[in-house]
Amino acid sequence: MKNKTTCPYCGVGCGVVADVQNNHVASVAGDTSHPANSGKLCVKGSSLDKVLGATGRLTQPKVNGVTTDWDNALNEVAGQLLRTMMMHGPDAIAFYLSGQLLTEDYYVANKLMKGFIGSANVDTNSRLCMSSAVVGYKRAFGADAVPCNYEDLERTDLLVLVGSNAAWNHPILFQRMRHAKAQRPEMRIVVIDPRRTATCDIADLHLAIQPGTDVLLFTGLLAYLAKHDALDESFIKQHTEQFDAALNIANDTAAHLPSVAQTCGVELAALEQFYQLFLTHHKVVSFYSQGVNQSSQGSNNANAIINCHLATGRLGYAGAGPFSITGQPNAMGGREVGGLANQLAAHMEFNEQDVDRVGRFWGAYNMATQEGLKAVDMFDAVASGKIKAIWIMGTNPAVSLPKSDAICAALKQCPLVIVSDCIANTDTQDYADICLPATGWSEKDGTVTNAERRISRQRALLPPLGEAKPDWWIISSVAKRMGFSHAFDYKNPRQIFTEHAALSGFENHGQRCFNISQLAHLNDHEYEHLTPIQWPVTSTSPTGTARLFTDHRYFTPSHKARFIPTSQHAAVQQPTSELPYIVNTGRIRDQWHTMAITGRAEGLFQHRSEPFIEIATQDAIKEQIKTGDLIELRHPQGVYIARAQVSDDQRAGELFAPIHWNRQFASQGNISNLIEPVVDPYSGQPESKHGRAALKPF
Ligand code: SF4
Repeated sequence: MKNKTTCPYCGVGCGVVADVQNNHVASVAGDTSHPANSGKLCVKGSSLDKVLGATGRLTQPKVNGVTTDWDNALNEVAGQLLRTMMMHGPDAIAFYLSGQLLTEDYYVANKLMKGFIGSANVDTNSRLCMSSAVVGYKRAFGADAVPCNYEDLERTDLLVLVGSNAAWNHPILFQRMRHAKAQRPEMRIVVIDPRRTATCDIADLHLAIQPGTDVLLFTGLLAYLAKHDALDESFIKQHTEQFDAALNIANDTAAHLPSVAQTCGVELAALEQFYQLFLTHHKVVSFYSQGVNQSSQGSNNANAIINCHLATGRLGYAGAGPFSITGQPNAMGGREVGGLANQLAAHMEFNEQDVDRVGRFWGAYNMATQEGLKAVDMFDAVASGKIKAIWIMGTNPAVSLPKSDAICAALKQCPLVIVSDCIANTDTQDYADICLPATGWSEKDGTVTNAERRISRQRALLPPLGEAKPDWWIISSVAKRMGFSHAFDYKNPRQIFTEHAALSGFENHGQRCFNISQLAHLNDHEYEHLTPIQWPVTSTSPTGTARLFTDHRYFTPSHKARFIPTSQHAAVQQPTSELPYIVNTGRIRDQWHTMAITGRAEGLFQHRSEPFIEIATQDAIKEQIKTGDLIELRHPQGVYIARAQVSDDQRAGELFAPIHWNRQFASQGNISNLIEPVVDPYSGQPESKHGRAALKPF
């Protein structure tokens, strides 16, 4: 039987058709009817049937290492959380969630924590991925609102990829870009990335900028556009504010092109070529990802890009706009339900009106009134003992967070660590007092939202393995045992989704962009057969909204878009004589996160079979290293060993290491441990693209 569902890996959110026979997924193929991928899948998506099966799954609850039943495990979780609340207050509890959770799971976790336990200490691994992009949009548009859609990537005349190796990280979108370029060779593509990546294969121009100089590059572009009379004065006057402040800073700090080129580390002619391309094309899409976000100035990076679109009015129509791309399948869904510690559900804020509004809608027992701790601060609070109970769902922070050895040490001394996961024996479970088996892809049932705001169903194809349960069921069951039965009496994910949809429209008189109130009355059958749809979904847009801001009405108090003055600041983790190399981290084509899932498919090791450190040819000569040699990276936080891969694509003085390998696949440590927990001051997103280390042959 053929069932439609969604790929659980990257933010492209491809539709999948699974052939299910005898309680077994016999094969998977791309869903030809899904607008994201029109029948195509990348290598990871095509291997989904290979990662299933019982081996390595967490299938039964465990308390203190002893297998138990759900009743006992849930009572234990509820009892210990209540005790912690009573003895130390709500802020002694934290939830750390994941962009792998479905929207319904995310919603219930946020509701329990922010509306009933009474703390906003709920954050998510999406903090490491796109929280700077969120700040960029909120500051500019007054809402966390992605204006564009995937079709814009094909309809644009100039596609600027900033800090994105789409060829590896968003492969289906890259295929769409490549196809568009083949169809219209006059379409121009610029890649801005310190490394020459596979994405550069389709580029007309590659600007290998010095890491951490994005703000200067785009602030320089703003000054250049002004100098060459390329501003859309009428758009600026009618639809924006704070332009003069942004332009004054640009003119003061980035108007001298040779200085900009020198600091950015690019040829003056190449810089001017990029600026001219932007100036001469009406339809421009800036497509940006982790290279922009994972920076100590990630929020300003995003706003420096958005400023250029506002200055030229290049948004709100087909083929134009600033387009941030999420890494995870449901980072967007998490944002919608308040998955970040500084947001409430339905994109509401921690202001008096929104706190009151959400509290009334939920019938909250103890509504959080102020923002909670963001990921890095949250684990600092675990380390300091301020947080005494943490519940980690569907993620592996013992590998993925910066300075991961310190994360492990913090978890080790935390009085209560609860981990829900579908996989057994993740690195984080080493520190868990209670392990709860969650359903995985093919068993989960709910919705996800992809990077173009498109909500799709991820459907259950198989019965849960062993005693595994959906995350929403686990969280609701704990909530009921904590005494909150009336608010968590859900029978199925449809009831949660429609409540979430109703909240999005609750007292929303057009002030909030996120609104799917038209979906609030779906019955079970309609929810089951929901076809992919882009929010907002309202009475005036019942079939969804392809593009935002076509009317140039924004969600700021004045309804005008805001320029944010930006000026260049150096990365915090600067190389020193002791730590002379910049360390750039990222993903490889065929693996996902800490490999807990993709590591189960043998075929996904064909592309890269072991961890590596990419090093520039001239550095390799200097260090007397050749491809295949083991090399050691050193930092006061730890050591990382992997094989060298000498490359002309790498800039001298810079290294690249993939993030994926964990203890189960390699014993040489993990690269995140060498990254210092430095964050963007507005978003709290770590500076994972600009670590530093010493290097020597091993
Ligand atoms: Fe899955 Fe992303 Fe590949 Fe699509 S591009 S199949 S969503 S991993």
